[in-house]
Amino acid sequence: MGETQSAKIEISRTKGDFFMKQQYFPYAFFEGKVVKTEDAKISIMTNALQYGTGVFAGIRGYYNPKGFINVFRIEDHFERFLQSLQILGVTTPYTKEKLVKTTIELLKKNKPKTDMYIRPFTYAGSINLSPNLQRDNSFDVAIYMLPLGEYLPVDKGISAMVSSWRRISDNAIPSRAKISGSYINSALARQQATKLGFDEAILLTEDGHVAEGSAENLFIVRNETLITADSSDDVLEGITRRTILKFAKDLGIPTEVRRIDRSELYIAEEAFFSGTGVQIAWISQIDSRVVGDGKRGKITQKISQLFFSTVRGNERKYKTWCTQITI
Ligand code: PMP
Repeated sequence: MGETQSAKIEISRTKGDFFMKQQYFPYAFFEGKVVKTEDAKISIMTNALQYGTGVFAGIRGYYNPKGFINVFRIEDHFERFLQSLQILGVTTPYTKEKLVKTTIELLKKNKPKTDMYIRPFTYAGSINLSPNLQRDNSFDVAIYMLPLGEYLPVDKGISAMVSSWRRISDNAIPSRAKISGSYINSALARQQATKLGFDEAILLTEDGHVAEGSAENLFIVRNETLITADSSDDVLEGITRRTILKFAKDLGIPTEVRRIDRSELYIAEEAFFSGTGVQIAWISQIDSRVVGDGKRGKITQKISQLFFSTVRGNERKYKTWCTQITI
């Protein structure tokens, strides 16, 4: 606990830009080999491009100037990646071990000197006219990497609105799978939110309960209890969400994983988004109502501090989540 409290919050920054100067690292894994990223190209006719028949992952690597990258929960990301394929009823020639190994080799070749993001992508690579998972049942695999600082500001307090778009339901497009085509749902919600001047959207389930953000899970605090939606409320089963629930348990913060009503958002003491991209971003306003006292709350602060220290490999207790790659 002492170690946690004294740990400094280290936050990567790119002055709000999604990309740093260099938009991607030079090498990608494509069609079974390492190629220049700009040469990793597919046909306009590709099934995945036409129909969203793909699955992806997003993994963060944190740069340490001592000469290594700390990759956070790589195995868990590839586990969800393969589970997403299992949900679609398709396969890939790659095992989890092979995917981890290939990613690490690519990372060593790219030698990033900054915080970065790894994007594994598996997709129906055929040029068949119709979406046909029976015929396209072995997906191709590609991996590329980008420099990445903040996706949403983590220390400013962001504004969110409840979207009029509903979160995809599990019986329409399986919501716990990270399927490319699902992200039209995220894009519509985010488009609406940003057009109306909010930073991010909160999506409700078809039956009107709180699900999550456009690309992040949502936590609220009520009566000093940390609450997040149940995984059967159409959320992506976030790895950061799981990390935070474990932190809360270890820090003695009471948690509830349950159905959340929309009106609870308006009387929450604290609220934040969590995800690999967003990390932990606290919310200052929801539907133009100030959350709590409009400042980053105590519980959010504690969780953030532990999170940013852990992902950079500074917490011995959670070292097994970090894969340190010398570059
Ligand atoms: N929900 C959605 C829809 C997402 O795209 C993401 C980002 N992967 C998350 C939640 C958070 O998941 P994770 O913590 O595993 O990145």
